[in-house]
Amino acid sequence: MIIKRFITGLLETNCYLVACQETLNATLIDAGFNEAEAITVIREIGKKNLKVKYVLNTHWHPDHTAGNEYFREKLGALVIIHEDDAPMLNAGASLLGLKVKPHRPDKTVTDGDLIEIGKTCLKVIHTPGHTRGSICLLGKGVVFTGDTLFAGSIGRTDLPGGSFEEIIGSIRNKLMTLPDETLVYPGHGPFSSIGKEKRTNPFLTDIY
Ligand SMILES: [Zn+2]
Ligand SMILES: [Zn+2]
Repeated sequence: MIIKRFITGLLETNCYLVACQETLNATLIDAGFNEAEAITVIREIGKKNLKVKYVLNTHWHPDHTAGNEYFREKLGALVIIHEDDAPMLNAGASLLGLKVKPHRPDKTVTDGDLIEIGKTCLKVIHTPGHTRGSICLLGKGVVFTGDTLFAGSIGRTDLPGGSFEEIIGSIRNKLMTLPDETLVYPGHGPFSSIGKEKRTNPFLTDIY
């Protein structure tokens, strides 16, 4: 699996380009791009000859979804989000000084769904708490955690659909049960691993 990170926008959102080495099929995970940033990604996709099938949204916040329509139009990629966050895209999200034009996803997913990317796949883990329909995406030895889990922190829960109890439950029951060596690719900030978060994340250390 090829993984390339782009850091985008004022909130420094991590957007990932994930590709299957053998087939060159690819997906974007979160697309908070403005148009100038999106052109860099399109160039990278062209250079590597990738076929981008999907734009997967870890949740509906504009810093993760502002580029959905751009990539759908340019690449014919399908926009995919958890069913509980889909209505928020359509409601025309305006948050944190960012705005997303109302749009509908092409497909919604739910816990346990598998998303094929060539010969590899990503498994949807529903992790409510940051938003109702927040998801993490589990690949081989890696998990993309959106705004649910960060290196040394967790997502905020004071925005619509947020719940502190839920996010702690999601992290504890669905992420901390993954092998310690699983790499964590969060929606903001540096990379980590499940084991490191168990040992050092101040929101989790009193649990473990
Ligand atoms: Zn968010
Ligand atoms: Zn974010």
